[in-house]
Amino acid sequence: KTATLPDAAPRSAELFTRARAALPGGVNSPVRGYGSVGGTPRFLVSARGPYVTDADGREYVDLVCSWGPMILGHAHPAVVEAVQQAAARGLSFGAPTPGETDLAEEILRRVPAADRVRLVSTGTEATMTAVRLARGATGRDLIVKFAGCYHGHVDSLLAQAGSGVATLALPGSAGVTAATAAETIVLPYNDLAAVEAVFAERGDQIAAVIIEASPANMGVVPPLPGFNAGLSRIARAHGALLIQDEVLTGFRVGPSGWWGLEGSVEGWAPDLFTFGKVVGGGLPVAAIAGPAALMERLAPLGPVYQAGTLSGNPVATAAGLATLRAADAGVYARMDDVALQLGEAVSAALAAEGVAHRIQRAGNLFSVFFGDDAARVGVPDFAAAQAQDVFRHAPFFHAMLAGGVNLPPSVFEAWFVSAAHDDAALDRVLSALPAAARAAAAA
Ligand code: PMP
Repeated sequence: KTATLPDAAPRSAELFTRARAALPGGVNSPVRGYGSVGGTPRFLVSARGPYVTDADGREYVDLVCSWGPMILGHAHPAVVEAVQQAAARGLSFGAPTPGETDLAEEILRRVPAADRVRLVSTGTEATMTAVRLARGATGRDLIVKFAGCYHGHVDSLLAQAGSGVATLALPGSAGVTAATAAETIVLPYNDLAAVEAVFAERGDQIAAVIIEASPANMGVVPPLPGFNAGLSRIARAHGALLIQDEVLTGFRVGPSGWWGLEGSVEGWAPDLFTFGKVVGGGLPVAAIAGPAALMERLAPLGPVYQAGTLSGNPVATAAGLATLRAADAGVYARMDDVALQLGEAVSAALAAEGVAHRIQRAGNLFSVFFGDDAARVGVPDFAAAQAQDVFRHAPFFHAMLAGGVNLPPSVFEAWFVSAAHDDAALDRVLSALPAAARAAAAA
């Protein structure tokens, strides 16, 4: 019985004690510290397919998937081999490499709305660069973002941000200057009228609107039909750019990301895309992509400066390329199927215990919102996401952990599946659900 208690992870507990004496909070990215669920973060030592193994030797079905990159599952043989071969040729050159062009071409093949790519190392760098490029191209300063959307820890984009900022219930971040904060206009998500109003007033000062292609950092809150297209139309009418942040959705929800499911079908495209996560296959690669006329304003061709010692790193680009090349139609079909089955099973388990909830989906991304309001009217924005029964999440999370399932340790995050989640892994999740639903009901 004690083996199933949240803190029955003695090696992880010991490692966490050591880590806290060396790293702020014992972690290098806040949500990993289990701040909102309590207990001992599991220190992971290895991973294969749909499973991760912790320092105590316990195996979990992984529904975090490194927060998105691992669409093929962990340690996919083709990706590991590509990385090993690249590493054997040298780790970093600080010069152009053939692999950078291979990866850029693969991105452009999947996203024909763009025709140039700049590779960087993190999603944060990608959105930071996209914002600078938009300002450089328009000669304007203001940026419009939406409450609950997370775009990395860029100073100007931390206001009312999702992900860890939401998990820790912070309004933004200390250390962002008032001047920077004043250049960001934050609007409620899915509210086109609010966007129209702000543009009517200050449209000639707005450089760009930045959106999560389909938000997944306040839980999964998809755009209402026509919302993204409306943003594109409004921005264009005022000479502003639309930056579609696909760091999380890109090459995960489909071969061409969220744009492949929406914009390309509706016949429109954002001005700039940002990618990350999947595009590096688990190593640090991210990207900005867009039309040549805009992208060639970047140095060395244009006046907008951007650079990186490790940008386009040969080992990292090899991982991204191998991942994208292996991500065929079957991979996406399997992820869709796994997400569908899991969401239905979660919903059935919660319903059986009388826990009011709603599953929201965006392609193969989904998350669970607890509470009567969420169940009745759904969750269209950050205010509604915050108003859910947050307290049901921690007991649910810990019961799943005890049942051998690694869920995101925050109610404001999506669940991530991979094509390696086979029926055996699914069965393990299903067998953990009834106890977790009971724990959520008892909260
Ligand atoms: N944009 C979105 C939509 C994200 O989900 C994230 C990370 N979760 C980022 C940007 C930042 O990426 P990174 O953590 O690689 O800096």
